[in-house]
Parts: sequence; structure tokens; C-alpha cells
Amino acid sequence: MLQGVGMTSARTRDRLIQRLVDQGVTNMRVLDVMRNTPRHIFLDEALAHRAYEDTALPIGHGQTLSQPYTVARMTEILLGAAGKLDKVLEVGTGSGYQTTVLAQLVPQVYSVERIKPLQDKARERLRQLGLRNVSLRHADGGFGWPEMGPYEGILSTAAPHAVPQELLKQLAPSGVLVIPIGGREQHLHLIMRDGDSDNFVTRVIEPVKFVPLVSGTSR
Ligand code: SAH
Repeated sequence: MLQGVGMTSARTRDRLIQRLVDQGVTNMRVLDVMRNTPRHIFLDEALAHRAYEDTALPIGHGQTLSQPYTVARMTEILLGAAGKLDKVLEVGTGSGYQTTVLAQLVPQVYSVERIKPLQDKARERLRQLGLRNVSLRHADGGFGWPEMGPYEGILSTAAPHAVPQELLKQLAPSGVLVIPIGGREQHLHLIMRDGDSDNFVTRVIEPVKFVPLVSGTSR
């Protein structure tokens, strides 16, 4: 359970969860965690009143907090496809909302963000929530975080045009990568390492809309 944060009304949050169920999200653990995660603290005050709408919202620096449906879908796909998840890598910390959802479902979360001020804000929110199983790094997540890998799961919340080979390399045996791929048109991909081989099985899940994965870092 998350500590020390004011919550909007239970009804507002229940309505969002019902919407996710209506759209086909079925994983109860994911729905429970999202019901109990205060999304409004990941937004600037002026936008906080819209936090429980099922929509992506701006977080500054041209970036967005992902739509709740997308967060739920990606998380349930990750949990459903992976075996035992010990370490998960997230590419694109952004506001830290997806990070916070993951941190309540898996033992250890690593998250990489290229824009320093976004990372600083996310770090402060995670601290406020009392989450201690998250490590953040300011770097180009297209190269993953090799020192901490391999990971049973990797989730990218920014879209490259092609699958970053470095991320595949950092997948543990039977590890899974959930990632949007494309430009103006994007599709969510589920890529699974076949046992401990260097073969990968890819499933294209559904059309999505993410900000692009951008190379390099920014202060
Ligand atoms: N998971 C975030 C979504 C933020 S949008 C949330 O819940 O709020 C995607 C994020 O990916 C942005 O913050 C963007 O700066 C970041 N990003 C884009 N390219 C990146 C890269 N190469 N390495 C790390 N982060 C990247």
C-alpha cells in the first residue's frame, strides 16, 4: 500500500477502473494497484483534476503521462507473458506513474529517463510514496541499463522505429520486452526470448500512440 498521499474520491477512481475493465483489462492485480495509485500526484496542479480521466496528459518537456488504459494493458501483457519477474527495466520514466504501478507488482524496478528535470520530479514522487524498490538512471534508455541486467521483463514507454538490439541483449532467458514500435503509426509489440537462446518470438498486439524514443540525454 502506498503511504502519505491525499486521494481523490474512491468513486472517481472506481469509475476509471470500471472503464479499464470495460475496455478488456482483466488482470485483477493490475486493476487493484491502479485503483490504489494516486495518479494526480504525477501531474502539475493545473492538470491534477483530470488525473482520473482515461487520457494521456502533458507532463512538460513535450512529454506525456501515458493513458491509464495503455499503462494497464502494457503491465498486464508483461505480467501475463513473463514467468517469474524479479527485475524489470522501464525505458522512459517520465512522470514515474508507470514506474509506480510496476513497483507494486514486481520486486525490483529499474527505470531510465533521458530528460533530467523529469527524472528529478519522478524521484521526488517515488520518495513521497515510500517506494524503495526503484532505481532511476539519467541516460539514453535505448541502450538499456546493462550493469543491472539481465531483466525478466523490459517495458518501453517511448517508441523507437525499430527494436533496439541492446534491449534484446539484456533480456534474461525467456524474458519479455513490451514496446511500441513505429513512427506516425505505431504498434505495441511483445517480444519474447525463446528460452536461453538468441531467438526471439514477436507478437504484434495493437495500435498505440507514444512519444518517440529519442537518442542522447538532455539536462
Ligand atoms: N512512463 C511514463 C511515460 C512518459 S512518456 C509515465 O508514466 O509518465 C515517455 C518518456 O520516455 C518521456 O519522459 C521521454 O523523455 C522518455 N524517453 C524518450 N526517449 C528516451 C530514451 N532514449 N531514453 C530514456 N527515456 C526516453
